Amino acid sequence: MKVTKYFEEAKGKSLISFEVLPPLKGGSMQSIFDVLDPLMEFKPPFIDVTYHREEYVYQKSGNGYYEKASIRKRPGTVGICAALMHRYGVDAVPHLICGGFTKEDTENALIDLNFLDICNVLAIRGDARKFDGRFLPEEGGHSYALDLVRQIVEMNEGRYLDSNIENGARTNFCIGIAGYPEKHFEAPNFQSDLKYTKNKIDAGADYIVTQMFFDNKNYFDYVDACREKGIDVPIVPGLKPLTKMYQLKSLPRMFYVNMPEALVKEIEKVKKPEHAKEVGIEWCITQSLELKEYGVPCLHYYTMGDVDTIKRIAKAVF
Ligand code: FAD
Repeated sequence: MKVTKYFEEAKGKSLISFEVLPPLKGGSMQSIFDVLDPLMEFKPPFIDVTYHREEYVYQKSGNGYYEKASIRKRPGTVGICAALMHRYGVDAVPHLICGGFTKEDTENALIDLNFLDICNVLAIRGDARKFDGRFLPEEGGHSYALDLVRQIVEMNEGRYLDSNIENGARTNFCIGIAGYPEKHFEAPNFQSDLKYTKNKIDAGADYIVTQMFFDNKNYFDYVDACREKGIDVPIVPGLKPLTKMYQLKSLPRMFYVNMPEALVKEIEKVKKPEHAKEVGIEWCITQSLELKEYGVPCLHYYTMGDVDTIKRIAKAVF
């Protein structure tokens, strides 16, 4: 079923959903089940699976020199989605990115998803590869998530890249996109980022999942700004608990988010590094309860493989 249909049927009650990463190449599906088995008691109607583009690495070659090689460290998104649907009877939401895909690759991936009965996708651009400096699309691929949304909408209308295909089967994808309460890091300002988000909604995207945030005011302000701009789709808050002291600096560096002063002070007060996790969990529970009270469509947790933490939070909130 479509993600937006779950929201409609919940009639204002907040749902819960989880996001998992494919294991590193060489890992097994069991590592995903180990994360999700204990979380299924909370009855998530859907689970997101991230997509990871190939990366450049430098590998030592026979002559002692290093050579640049391109590898995909976390393949398997589509297979994992199929396995989750089979094992848990939930809907799986694969993330689909622009990076590394030609338009034809995208079309073929969408055909596979459709044949597997996957009817939800999160359409995003993807980040720049390390050493590229900025996002570089594949030749013949999309530069922005907006173009990816447009391609999915075309397939929903039965239009394929090959214009000779007449009466093409219509796919029926519900399309999620990413949103940034604290602005996407490349955008010159918040309003500019919001304008492009609105373009994706106008092109046919159905709902937004936000980047993580640690101050709910950022989410509330973002929702207000979206509504003012005419963006009226469900906006799902993405949440990640802080569990390690060093994340006070690493999360802002990696995800361009701010840490509220009160959280920084609480973390800096802890006597042992392991106590930082307790502070982070309590913070995330407080955030979640307030968001639930506000009436968010769903609380979406970035699990990052830390099942115990997410389970404690889910138990306290649901
Ligand atoms: P876009 O919407 O294309 O926007 C990118 C930038 O360009 C923004 O600054 C925007 O303001 C600007 N812009 C947009 N359209 C235009 C235009 N037409 N002209 C000029 N500027 C424009 N990454 C992964 O690799 N795999 C994942 O699975 C993944 N999952 C994610 C899930 C969520 C919920 C979120 C929030 C992010 C996720 N990301 C993932 C990261 C995401 O790929 C990056 O944040 C990426 O840098 C931007 O993606 P986007 O879809 O927001 O890009």
